[in-house]
Amino acid sequence: MAYLIKDRLRFLAGASKILSASLDYNVTLANVAKLITDNMADFCMIDLLDENGIMIRVASRSSSPKKRELIKRMFNFPANPRNKEGIYYVAQTRKSVFVRNLDLKWLRLATISAGEREIVHGLEMNSFIFSPLISRDKVIGVITIISSKEGFSYTDDDVLLAEEIGNRAGIAVDKARLYQEAQEALEAEKALATNFEFLSDASKILSSSLDYKTTLANVAKLSILHIADWCGVDILNDDGEIEQVAVAHRDPAKVKWAKELRKHRPVKMSDPTGVANVLRTGKAEIYSLVTDAMLTAAAESKEELKLLRNLHLTSVMIVPLVADKKTIGTISFITTNAGRQYDNDDLRMAEELANRASLAIENARLYSIAQDAITKREEFMSIAAHELRTPLTIILLHLQKANTDIKKLMEKHTGMEKIPDLLERSEKQGLRLSKLINDLLDVSLGNSGRLTLEKERVDLNALVEEVLQVFSIQMKKAKKSIVFNRSGDPVIGHWDRIRLEQVILNLISNAFKYGKGKPIDVLVTKKTGEALIKIKDKGIGIKPENRKGIFELFKRGVSSNDYKGLGIGLYISGKIVEAHGGWIDVESKVGAGSTFTVRLPLKSH
Ligand code: ADP
Repeated sequence: MAYLIKDRLRFLAGASKILSASLDYNVTLANVAKLITDNMADFCMIDLLDENGIMIRVASRSSSPKKRELIKRMFNFPANPRNKEGIYYVAQTRKSVFVRNLDLKWLRLATISAGEREIVHGLEMNSFIFSPLISRDKVIGVITIISSKEGFSYTDDDVLLAEEIGNRAGIAVDKARLYQEAQEALEAEKALATNFEFLSDASKILSSSLDYKTTLANVAKLSILHIADWCGVDILNDDGEIEQVAVAHRDPAKVKWAKELRKHRPVKMSDPTGVANVLRTGKAEIYSLVTDAMLTAAAESKEELKLLRNLHLTSVMIVPLVADKKTIGTISFITTNAGRQYDNDDLRMAEELANRASLAIENARLYSIAQDAITKREEFMSIAAHELRTPLTIILLHLQKANTDIKKLMEKHTGMEKIPDLLERSEKQGLRLSKLINDLLDVSLGNSGRLTLEKERVDLNALVEEVLQVFSIQMKKAKKSIVFNRSGDPVIGHWDRIRLEQVILNLISNAFKYGKGKPIDVLVTKKTGEALIKIKDKGIGIKPENRKGIFELFKRGVSSNDYKGLGIGLYISGKIVEAHGGWIDVESKVGAGSTFTVRLPLKSH
């Protein structure tokens, strides 16, 4: 039985019509295969050369539906470049290969695999033609035309016809391919333009406010208008937990699902992939196409898998938010329901967005620190002005009184006895004023890190004793209410005497101020490698939430109405002890009192 193509010209004219019917690449390939299997073959295969010169099988067809599965299996066997009578040979030489009757010699020459050989037998091939597909004077691929009709052989005329079809089909396939490439380029350009527009809109939003959580929520909302069906922002909070600060979905009803999934399975820092991994590594993740296998691997239970499947995820990108060289959060972009598939251009855009968002977060953080500092400074200035004015007013009053008294005295020679008292009180206020001014000076030294120490050999027992003496001279009741337990052994170190005096003085003053008039215990001891000074009162105590803060500048745990003060004594004391390589800690119970412990290393720091 032969393929009777009586009117070859008519066939070719019909072929041209079919081949120019569509610009769709896949349709064109299918049309070529159909044209051949309808008219001159039992089977047809099309291979095209890619940019690396590799033959890629792009279509196959069988005229008999029964054999379609078998010919499809040929996709698993790419052509062998070493086959001296195969399609690579055709592509190189531009010459058709024509096998009148398939025989053992050809099979040996073809060096095809056992699997392929099995298919060749299954298809019962007996005669075939490999004909070049030509366009713009170049071979772009090869058509394989196969007959399985018993006793039939293609003729030289069939080869000529196949070559002619190869010319026409080559042009049609090439045109469709160029059209597809142009379409893809257009799509890519459109996506780029969307990305660009999105980035510039996002930047405007990011610079619009200094409240970064609101800003990030707005970025998420903007994302679902342009590039995602779903966008979530996660931030590592101060407790090291991952907190979802924003989530937006194109379908608002589904935000609930996203939250449910999060509740069902909170993100754990130990998760091997996803938000946790991006937070850990600082590297973005992209899943261009989320497969069911990925969901099955990710789900920890059947319910979770159901929830995940319900989301109909298509594509996912997770990018890091970085501030101060640390990854502080992530932005996740997700498309669903066979929507857009993210590629590397999208990832670059998302990373750029995250960079800009990171800057906005950093700005917001710096702004709030600056705001806090300004507020604190203003508070401090008003309290400081008040504190400085009080002793000065008293000094002036006493001096005025002393002045008038001296004048009167000079007139009457009486009233002498009051003068020393007035001058003493002025001196006391003068000392207070000088301490305040010294403290202020120390604050600026401590802040700038210019606190220098003048170290000498110091006996801590003796030093505390001296401070207590000065103290009891200044405060009459101090002598009675302080119990000093000196260490049995001498506690000697290499420290700055004046600075340590300042620390002890500050702590004892506080113990008096906040000690509700109850006795105070002072203790000096030595432990391995360190000297300890403990100052214990039975006063108002400190709330647990304030215990860390009181060592910060201007931080106070009491109201200025109840207790006067600037909130700088502990800050300075802390800085001095730190400069010695030690630290101060505090134990306290509200209403029962506080114990401050100064720890100083005995070895020179
Ligand atoms: P100031 O006493 O001027 O406020 P400090 O820096 O010396 O400044 O102390 C900071 C805060 O620490 C105080 O406002 C107070 O709340 C708390 N504090 C310090 N010492 C004690 C103490 N012995 N008992 C209770 N609270 C104290």
